[in-house]
Amino acid sequence: MNSKKPRIVVLGAGYAGMMTTKRLCQNLAPEEAEIVLVNKHNYHYQTTWLHEVAAGTINPNQVRIMISDVINPNRVRLIYDTVAKVNKEDQVVELENSELSYDYLVISLGFETNTFGIKGMEDHAFFINDIDTCREIYSHIEYQFAKYNTQENPDDDSLAILVGGGGFTGIEFVGELVEKVPELCKKYDVDRSKVRIINVEAAPSIMPGFDKDLVAYAKDSLQSRGVEFMENAKIQECTEDGFVVGDDHEKVKAGTVVWTGGVKGSSILTESGFELTKGKVTVDGDLRAPGEENIFILGDCAWVMNKEEGRPYPPTAQSAMQHADTCAANLRALLHNEPLESFVFDDKGTVASLGVTDGMGTVFSGTKLYGKSAATMKKVVDNRYLFLLGGPKLVLRKGKFRPF
Ligand code: FAD
Ligand code: NAD
Repeated sequence: MNSKKPRIVVLGAGYAGMMTTKRLCQNLAPEEAEIVLVNKHNYHYQTTWLHEVAAGTINPNQVRIMISDVINPNRVRLIYDTVAKVNKEDQVVELENSELSYDYLVISLGFETNTFGIKGMEDHAFFINDIDTCREIYSHIEYQFAKYNTQENPDDDSLAILVGGGGFTGIEFVGELVEKVPELCKKYDVDRSKVRIINVEAAPSIMPGFDKDLVAYAKDSLQSRGVEFMENAKIQECTEDGFVVGDDHEKVKAGTVVWTGGVKGSSILTESGFELTKGKVTVDGDLRAPGEENIFILGDCAWVMNKEEGRPYPPTAQSAMQHADTCAANLRALLHNEPLESFVFDDKGTVASLGVTDGMGTVFSGTKLYGKSAATMKKVVDNRYLFLLGGPKLVLRKGKFRPF
């Protein structure tokens, strides 16, 4: 490639990084810029399906997409390595195995689990972070079932699955567990009534701040299928065998303990000396880091204010993909000396699955969906993303079509 071309380096092949790279390929002629995409693995994964991997309700291979299957390696240089730090002064990215200079940089390294310093959480809880951590969760759950009947005096607590945090991730995860647990009970000859699935939420209600009718629906649906909720129950500590909860330090025991209590931006932002708001960079309207002419921060690494409501937009795949469109347009504008555009969020709604056949959410301007129509809409949203990324072929290979 011509080394005189400006080099655009995209860090992280998640929703934001993949869609930015795709759009750059569409917006720029090959002679206008060299595009480099750096990612830890040679595959992209659907972060929005990770709870299914953790519960064992989906094959992890369906969740992974080889990057070179959807990004043309003749057009984009693909580097599979781990980012260690961005050296802004020298315009260099330090990777685990090499270094890479840039003219323009896009940081889209996603989220890390936030434990808020809760004692024991890092040491004893599982996290829904990526494919590998989720495979580990499912293997651990299955092992608890496999060993139960081999014990002389089996401990029923070892079968319990405790999920800390009743946000969307925690609720979607217990929704998958209610599907999987009966299957595991059958496979390992365990009585279903011995298996507890417990969700613990600090706020007065699960999914705090979301539509009350929809939250009530989700709670009823999950409770009717055996999920226990502890609300107004702040986790104080995580131990080897459970959580310590509330002011009276109630001990809740389980063989599997998963923390879904919150996320923050990649720690590479801290390593690289960016000024942070709750672990993210408060970006300018055009999605650049303040004071940086050539660095864009996207997806879960970006703190983007919703000025009308005076709070940041929640970190979602929906936002990350929209950031990508604005960023790619602005990179083209920079190369063409044109004015940059401001990011405007287009809220298409929020839908959560409650297992394979149930769900709830809002679409477009607040229309509420419940049950099968919500579950169908969730699959439509998932398949739409696959279509945007890799066209009909990818939808057919990786899409969700399981009938009810
Ligand atoms: P990610 O998609 O997390 O991608 C980051 C990429 O960077 C990954 O490929 C990772 O491997 C790579 N990476 C990380 N660190 C390094 C490093 N140091 N070096 C190299 N590469 C690195 N949002 C919705 O809108 N709808 C949903 O239904 C939904 N469901 C969700 C379900 C779950 C279980 C979870 C956890 C989140 C869900 N979200 C959903 C939120 C959504 O997944 C995130 O907001 C979205 O993934 C953010 O996209 P991103 O591109 O910023 O990061
Ligand atoms: P979150 O921050 O949205 O939820 C974490 C929950 O944990 C909160 O309800 C919080 O009150 C609770 N919590 C925090 N500390 C606690 C403690 N000490 N004890 C008990 N509970 C505690 O995190 P998330 O659910 O991982 O979601 C991350 C982002 O991903 C959000 O923006 C969410 O909207 C998005 N997401 C969206 C979907 C969807 O659209 N279907 C699904 C999953 C995640």
